[in-house]
Amino acid sequence: MHIETQCLHEGYKPKNGEPKALPIYQSTTYTYDSTAHIGQLFDLTADGHMYSRISNPTVDAVEQKIAALEGGVGALCTTSGQAANLIAVLNICGAGGHIVAASTIYGGTINLFGVTLKKFGVDCTFVNADAPAEELEKAFRPNTRAVFGETIANPALAVLDIEKFAALAHRHGVPLIVDNTFATPVLCRPFEWGADIVTHSTTKYMDGHAVQVGGAVVDSGRFHWENGKFPELCTPDESYHGVTYTEQFGEKAYITKARVQLMRDLGMYPPALTAFILNLGLETLAVRMERHCANAQRAAEFLAAHSAVEHVNYPGLACDPYHALAQKYLPKGCSGVISFSVRGGRDAAVRFMDSLQLCNNVVHVADICTCVLHPASSTHRQLTDEQLVAAGITPGMIRLSVGLEHIDDILADLEKGFAAM
Ligand SMILES: *Cc1c(COP(=O)(O)O)cnc(C)c1O
Repeated sequence: MHIETQCLHEGYKPKNGEPKALPIYQSTTYTYDSTAHIGQLFDLTADGHMYSRISNPTVDAVEQKIAALEGGVGALCTTSGQAANLIAVLNICGAGGHIVAASTIYGGTINLFGVTLKKFGVDCTFVNADAPAEELEKAFRPNTRAVFGETIANPALAVLDIEKFAALAHRHGVPLIVDNTFATPVLCRPFEWGADIVTHSTTKYMDGHAVQVGGAVVDSGRFHWENGKFPELCTPDESYHGVTYTEQFGEKAYITKARVQLMRDLGMYPPALTAFILNLGLETLAVRMERHCANAQRAAEFLAAHSAVEHVNYPGLACDPYHALAQKYLPKGCSGVISFSVRGGRDAAVRFMDSLQLCNNVVHVADICTCVLHPASSTHRQLTDEQLVAAGITPGMIRLSVGLEHIDDILADLEKGFAAM
């Protein structure tokens, strides 16, 4: 099936007489006829739901849909994108371990890896993802357990060379985890380029309507865990009746462990109603991404040609440093987020922002409605102008998340902002 069809038909497949729409199973628990059956569920020898901190039929349908969209063997939904990235790493890396991550990743993930995981004994080395492979080799240590990057980095809009990163990770016997939030499987499926695990903040395009926070971890099922570096997957889990994940679950070892061990212990599982709403977003994902890409391409070209604009970052522009990588990994379009700097710095940017009427001034991206953010006066407001430049953000930089309005209305609103500068 093509991805447009998968968005509608994967996951929930009603049988004769069953509801057409995905039912919301609003129940914490599930009844069984015998203690023997429940015993089998606890031993993981029978399929079925036990408790909605670990699985739920509504969430399960959405997990199956997301796994199908990415071409993976299984997925696990979480209460946020942060929780997804946390579980993706902790599932294979504990205290004393080390990960390598691209330095351009989302600020929230930089904090998670660089500050909070450090307190739990996991070290992270941030690398310039554009450096040649020989340079990147130096970041690896004997205790390295994963490599992490974003298909399209938020908000740097750097495109990851997934094949290069996968080869590098595999040379060191560790998996590549790719956060595919901005691209979505509609524009890029990282497993096709060698990634082993994909994560999402479903808060962004997958939901698309800015109504709920969520995340997902997807397993390609292709990584070989039995190379000595991942004993937790290949030796009996004492906390789970001595289950050995690779033996009992084969290609689903990673995603099963993430659910029955980590999700059981950490409890970041989304409620059924949230999964139901996420499913509505997923149904239209492919159609929405097409329009986000088309509108953003037009907006980026408009901005690049505008005399009030100093610089535009958008991998869909021929002059963008990531254009060649975008042509390889994102042939259907470069998603909906653009960043640009206006001439006149901070004050001009603020006047621009405050004069917009259609574009929402919000701390959010990847929404059906166009939204703008001025990092220097919001997410990065604690930094001086000099510190901003060091962080790769200019005082006049604006992040524009292009929505599904008619492009002429979006451009007319931007023009109002420029007129006020
Ligand atoms: C927003 C975002 C996250 C964090 O997701 P939440 O759902 O806000 O927790 C992680 N990665 C990327 C690329 C994001 O854009």
